[in-house]
Amino acid sequence: MGKMTICVYGAASNKIDSVFITETEKLGEEIARRHHQIIYGGGASGVMGACARGAAREGGTVIGVVPNFMDEFEIINNNCTEIIRTETMSERKDVMEDHADAFIIAPGGIGTFDEFFQILTLAELGRKNAPIVIYNTDGYYDDMIVFMKKCTEKGFIRERALSLFRVCTTAEEAIDAIEEMKAQNNL
Ligand code: AMP
Repeated sequence: MGKMTICVYGAASNKIDSVFITETEKLGEEIARRHHQIIYGGGASGVMGACARGAAREGGTVIGVVPNFMDEFEIINNNCTEIIRTETMSERKDVMEDHADAFIIAPGGIGTFDEFFQILTLAELGRKNAPIVIYNTDGYYDDMIVFMKKCTEKGFIRERALSLFRVCTTAEEAIDAIEEMKAQNNL
């Protein structure tokens, strides 16, 4: 399996249960151990910071993509291997999407939902064909997945859209799924 750039989305908030921090540190470690690199929002806090810390612990490469205005109210992770600067949030999402070979959605809030639904929309429309995995620590996304199934039953979401991502609970399972999807679909 060749080296991939994996985009990890996740919460900036620190006001969350520690299980989300420790499990996402494990995710970062596993990505680095398998010699893939990470691209992410560049934050030092919450689930984002946890992923970057885990990867750094295992000597991994971490690229942060940060809009210039963010410095005013957010602690940027200075331990990133590289920081790419952008002007706007949408430009930043574009940079992350363009660089990434795969996407992992770790537990997060509105920013993370936005990123997940954007990449799922692009995948559904065939604009970006890459493995997408939901990292479902402690069943965090269970209700969202139930809701999406209901939307499918009611005809608002196509069946196919739900097959464009996998739901995983451990770091090993998440990276296995990405490597498998990549190999199977020649993504
Ligand atoms: P949220 O899930 O609302 O905490 O937003 C986190 C997601 O949105 C991350 O994956 C980032 O790419 C982006 N983001 C939103 N707010 C920030 C922030 N303050 N610092 C860094 N990235 C952020």
